[in-house]
Amino acid sequence: MTLVSMSHMLQHARAGKYAVGQFNINGLLWVQAILQAAEESRSPVILAASDRLVDYLGGFRTIAAMVNAIMEEQKVTVPVALHLDHGSTVARCLQAVDAGFSSVMYDGSHGPIEENIKNTKQVTLYAHERGVSVEAEVGTVGGMEDGLIGGIQYADLLECVRLVKETGVDALAAALGSVHGKYQGEPKLGFSEMEEIANAVNIPLVLHGASGIPAHQLKLAIELGHAKVNYNTELITTWATAVRTMLQLNPTAYEPKIIFTPSKEALVTKVQELIGGLGSLAKA
Ligand code: 13P
Repeated sequence: MTLVSMSHMLQHARAGKYAVGQFNINGLLWVQAILQAAEESRSPVILAASDRLVDYLGGFRTIAAMVNAIMEEQKVTVPVALHLDHGSTVARCLQAVDAGFSSVMYDGSHGPIEENIKNTKQVTLYAHERGVSVEAEVGTVGGMEDGLIGGIQYADLLECVRLVKETGVDALAAALGSVHGKYQGEPKLGFSEMEEIANAVNIPLVLHGASGIPAHQLKLAIELGHAKVNYNTELITTWATAVRTMLQLNPTAYEPKIIFTPSKEALVTKVQELIGGLGSLAKA
């Protein structure tokens, strides 16, 4: 199976009222674990590299080559998209496309809407010509991600409509109160705004900052049009806990394979659990 764009998987998910998980990768072990979990669950899946981690992960081409090779080694048959998360510039998005990513997010949410639309359009033209899907963001997801802290800014309905109409993006992250990283107390998502935006733009919505969102809120967000749900913090905390426990129980362990294997198993279990919550089990 080769990488596919996320446009069909998200359209199916939206029509079927479930969501496809985006799981952010932090190395080879993540790719192996997420693909194993998706294959065993017969679920479509989106592997994502956050732009800020691309160099740490070896660059765009290394990431694409690694994902393709592991799909082949593990004989993956479920649909897999490789996505650039929070692409910071037009150039970075085009680089990801050229390297073989099947999906990109251009995040112009921190600048003026005119500039966001102009740049998203440029990315979309280039990506669509090559069969690659595009996600855009309006408003700002708050919290901490990869060392960067930002405040929440709700997406504006008219800006969402304009951006989708003028750019032709495949999916929209409309920030409505979710945060990257850990929540302080119960998340407060703007469900009425969510319903309005989902109906007005008529394309799949993307929920960033899904780690820590309680099941009932997640369910409602999916019912209201979120077909892609992004997880990073749930995975990195699961991994860190497993590594810490392993070293506490085995203080003299030094072989990486011995130290990391339980963390890989913990990631497989966590991804399967999250896939269950999104309703994408057996939807491949
Ligand atoms: P969390 O780290 O809160 O899971 O969010 C991930 C995300 O939205 C990546 O874009």
